[in-house]
Amino acid sequence: MTAPAQARARAKVLPVDADDLAACVSCGLCLAHCPTYRVTGEEALSPRGRIAAMRAVEGGAPADGAFEEMMQTCVQCRACETACPSSVPFGRLMEGARQVLARRSVSRWQRGAYALLGHHRALLALSAAGGVAQRAGVVPPAVSRRLSLPRLPVRQARLQATGDDVWLFTGCVMDAWQRRVHAAAIAVVGACGAGVALPGASAACCGALHVHAGLRDEAAGLARRVMSAFPGAAPILVDSAGCGAALKDYGHLLGTAEAEAFSGRVQDIHEWMAARAGLLPVPRPGSGRPRIAVQDPCHLRHVQHADAAVRTVLAPYGELVELADEGRCCGAGGAYSALKPELAGAIRAQKVAVIDAAGADVVASANPGCSLWLAAAGVPVRHPVEIVAAAAGLQTR
Ligand code: SF4
Ligand code: SF4
Repeated sequence: MTAPAQARARAKVLPVDADDLAACVSCGLCLAHCPTYRVTGEEALSPRGRIAAMRAVEGGAPADGAFEEMMQTCVQCRACETACPSSVPFGRLMEGARQVLARRSVSRWQRGAYALLGHHRALLALSAAGGVAQRAGVVPPAVSRRLSLPRLPVRQARLQATGDDVWLFTGCVMDAWQRRVHAAAIAVVGACGAGVALPGASAACCGALHVHAGLRDEAAGLARRVMSAFPGAAPILVDSAGCGAALKDYGHLLGTAEAEAFSGRVQDIHEWMAARAGLLPVPRPGSGRPRIAVQDPCHLRHVQHADAAVRTVLAPYGELVELADEGRCCGAGGAYSALKPELAGAIRAQKVAVIDAAGADVVASANPGCSLWLAAAGVPVRHPVEIVAAAAGLQTR
């Protein structure tokens, strides 16, 4: 039996591929790219340290509180994957570790919150109630800060389908809190000459947060529901980086040919637009050329590798400004900023300093979690499709 085969045959504590775990050569090249290592300087909060801890657990060490803390403090940004010369699939390893820990580390209120994401009408109703409470001044500022709450919409215009050339994935929180981005996406895709179909309520939530929390079964259930909401073969465009990464991973999550085929239809909206750069609407006269700093959501840059597409899309509409941190994480991390506010805040402070130094007029971010988290720190953030729609004078209401 070969060494890798022996490793695979080994009884596993963590639901991970032993070859993946063995692939790390402890070179440390990922450390400087890890946001939690950068703000703490602790080996235990680095990718290498976390992999060493997983190996120890695999070798018989207890998955105790210290192990749990090392895993739960990971933002799951996957910057370490991009930096790793040995192609260690860190995201898969962390998902496996989180699965083992989920039973004790995901609280009942967290499970309730995750479950709510799959019930879109209830989420919209609760969000609207929150908007009313905000206006009445009865939402404690600490709650708003902890959840990076924007000013919640009380009433929202319904999105209108415009055709059937492409689907638009609308999702949960993004539709509840940033529906204006979907409206801009529909307008921009329409200006490129394509009609947009909209899914029903069963496409409520992609399950990304559930995967990150280790709730794989719940994520798989949501994935099956989402897949049933997009019949046919038309491309499925996604304007949320985290959701797009999750949808593209359904093949792996469900392990079926149907899921693989579904994932093959998913495109980040900027990938679709960049492939049609010649069809993008022209900026209207007098719209100017604002300085646009591009914030790369980790799941767009390190998972979908669509960061260049965002720049291609935005280039006609302003002067692009590169942030001097090679696309480092902002600390939002889905639910991370609410669960680990101190670490997330320290990571964000580094990001905000880099953004301030860039002297941009606006920051473009293609992920709702990042944009809410940065906006809560006073950063002027807009989604790239909003910037395009505004510059081209497109009607988005
Ligand atoms: S996923 Fe991000 S936070 Fe987690 S170990 Fe890798 S670089 Fe660090
Ligand atoms: S994860 Fe990759 S870059 Fe990081 S220590 Fe291991 S081999 Fe090196």
